[in-house]
Amino acid sequence: MLIPKPSLLDFTQKELMQLIKPSFRAKQIFGWLYHQYAENFDDMLNIPKSLREELSQKYVVNPIKIIRKEISEDGTIKYLFELQDGKTVEAVWLKMKDELRDINDVLIQEAKYTICVSTQVGCKVGCTFCLTAKGGFTRDLTAGEIVAQVVNLKRDNNHKHNRKINIVYMGMGEPLDNLDNLAHAIEIFQENEGLAISGKRQTVSTSGLSSKIDKLGAMDLGVHIAISLHAVDDTLRTELIPMNKAHNINSIIEAVKRFPIDTRKRVMFEYLVIKDKNDDLGSAKKLVKLLSDIKAKVNLIYFNPYPGTEYKRPKKEDMIAFQEYLVKHGLLCTIRDSKGIDISAACGQLKEKTEGER
Ligand code: SAH
Ligand code: SF4
Repeated sequence: MLIPKPSLLDFTQKELMQLIKPSFRAKQIFGWLYHQYAENFDDMLNIPKSLREELSQKYVVNPIKIIRKEISEDGTIKYLFELQDGKTVEAVWLKMKDELRDINDVLIQEAKYTICVSTQVGCKVGCTFCLTAKGGFTRDLTAGEIVAQVVNLKRDNNHKHNRKINIVYMGMGEPLDNLDNLAHAIEIFQENEGLAISGKRQTVSTSGLSSKIDKLGAMDLGVHIAISLHAVDDTLRTELIPMNKAHNINSIIEAVKRFPIDTRKRVMFEYLVIKDKNDDLGSAKKLVKLLSDIKAKVNLIYFNPYPGTEYKRPKKEDMIAFQEYLVKHGLLCTIRDSKGIDISAACGQLKEKTEGER
């Protein structure tokens, strides 16, 4: 196995300009990385060969490679990547809106996409319903490995650098457990001469490390947060998410209230619905109360079963009744349509499948 090298995707443009001289070359290389999606140094045709050779001694351009792809009927594409050390992580390409054409087949609006990225190999949080947790924790992803997931998906889907895209940190791992690399990746995405993905287009999903929610807030990156709440009382939440013992529901709600958000926006609360665990209207009632003084939006998610789990997928009518209760009591609520249900859509499921086949 090759010894892993840092990637050029690990750096902001300013950092790259400090590493590579003369600095106009660094700017050109930045363009190759984010506008042309270069995969290796040989692609960078206007960069002198000597500089390319020098850089290739120390760095790689693309630190990850696609080793598996599953395409769903609804346009969702799930990717499995291999990292330089042979570990694997997933990312998902989600089609949020179809393109619009008029009667003459002229394009009115382009399709809209969201990319779901991973932040760690495995996860320390250990949620009992989550397949990623089963394999334990291996390591944090570098900023470059996080950035590379988006670059590779955009390249693979011929998505031009200046087309808008949303990023959700909802793949494998707990983003706030890898806060420094996450924050660095967020800044690299925001680069005006790079992909220019503003904070508003990036959503960090967390299982609720309340002290780290405060830290992320203090960084003032302008990102949204989504809280994986999943339960309305601490007993059940601790069963589902063991670290709830240290960061209970109340501490999360208080941290959310302190988080700097655009006053026109809402904080998203994810509620994974598991049959006979948290799918009753009593829970819905408690949820309304819990979120009463927050500008919140609830996203109900069907539990997606996998072999060996004791949890079950809820019934559709119970999901709808739950949603109707919330809406009737003034809470904005959507049911996450099961994007990619025919592929292994939930976090960790493609990796598990592939390892099972190896
Ligand atoms: N660690 C972060 C982000 C990654 S998990 C977090 O927990 O928020 C991303 C989402 O996948 C979480 O909302 C989690 O609840 C959900 N998830 C995990 N296992 C799932 C399963 N089997 N079915 C449906 N959603 C699942
Ligand atoms: Fe980690 Fe999120 Fe899975 Fe929990 S749901 S184990 S926090 S990845």
